[in-house]
Amino acid sequence: MSIRKSRNYFSPDYMNQQKEKDKSYGLHPLDGYLKKDRIPHIWCPGCGLGVVLSSFLRALDHSGIPKEKTAVVSGIGCTGRVAGYLNMDSFHLTHGRAIPFATGLKVGNPDMVTTVFSGDGDLFAIGGNHFIHAARRNVDFNVICVNNFNFGMTGGQAGPTTPTEATTTTTPFGGFEHPFNLPAVAAGSGAVYVARWTAYHVEALIRSLEEALNKKGFCFVEVLTPCPTGYGRRTGQKTGKEAMKYYKENSRIEHGADPTEVSLDQDEIIVGKFVDREAPTYQERRGEIFQAIRKKKGVE
Ligand code: SF4
Repeated sequence: MSIRKSRNYFSPDYMNQQKEKDKSYGLHPLDGYLKKDRIPHIWCPGCGLGVVLSSFLRALDHSGIPKEKTAVVSGIGCTGRVAGYLNMDSFHLTHGRAIPFATGLKVGNPDMVTTVFSGDGDLFAIGGNHFIHAARRNVDFNVICVNNFNFGMTGGQAGPTTPTEATTTTTPFGGFEHPFNLPAVAAGSGAVYVARWTAYHVEALIRSLEEALNKKGFCFVEVLTPCPTGYGRRTGQKTGKEAMKYYKENSRIEHGADPTEVSLDQDEIIVGKFVDREAPTYQERRGEIFQAIRKKKGVE
């Protein structure tokens, strides 16, 4: 279950190679992937979303997949803004509907490497039903869930991943619900690749995203991310730096861990690659079954 050997994504040599490869790059080697006229972005100081987006772009850059063959689909929320900043085929959907849109996109355009990039509220509250069925079908795309434990954009309300007893605007005395354990939901629904990292584990996150981009089937990567504005200021992580320190001091890497044992409702944050298996995709199974039916009915 080991993650592929490290590359140095940040060395000057690597940066210079990228600039040589694409003259549209500007001051930064990832500039060619961004709509520069949309920058500065709207994200708050200390937010982890920039880390996750740049990790995805580095993984994409290193995967060798051309941006012309890449599609990104986002839902609503702070993470949903990702689609608007990308200089490639990107789609910003209504709340919770990124996955059904991505399913249609992938089935109609099988050559497009498709990634759903959205938040915990969008993917697992409003869009939860879509998530489990896309995983069950093993539709061939990636889902990156930026988990900041709350509905950040709308003011810090509790959501499906808010830890028990956390103080939010809708749980001012602390919550009492159990949060979803997202890797367990993904693995139990049928995902072929499941990993969790935090915004602190940048190199491992990039390698994991590159693996997901190159893998066939429904791949899920959860990234725990600071949200100082919506969540952190009510729960003792008032700055992004404090959240990163917390991730550093409380995380343990355990590749191959049983996804049902990695709930965040415990003191330790277990990160790593939990599932990496092969299974026929939705498109492959559909082809095989239609062929078998035609044969049975004697249809050419
Ligand atoms: Fe980031 Fe939270 Fe601000 Fe949204 S509200 S941009 S998730 S810090």
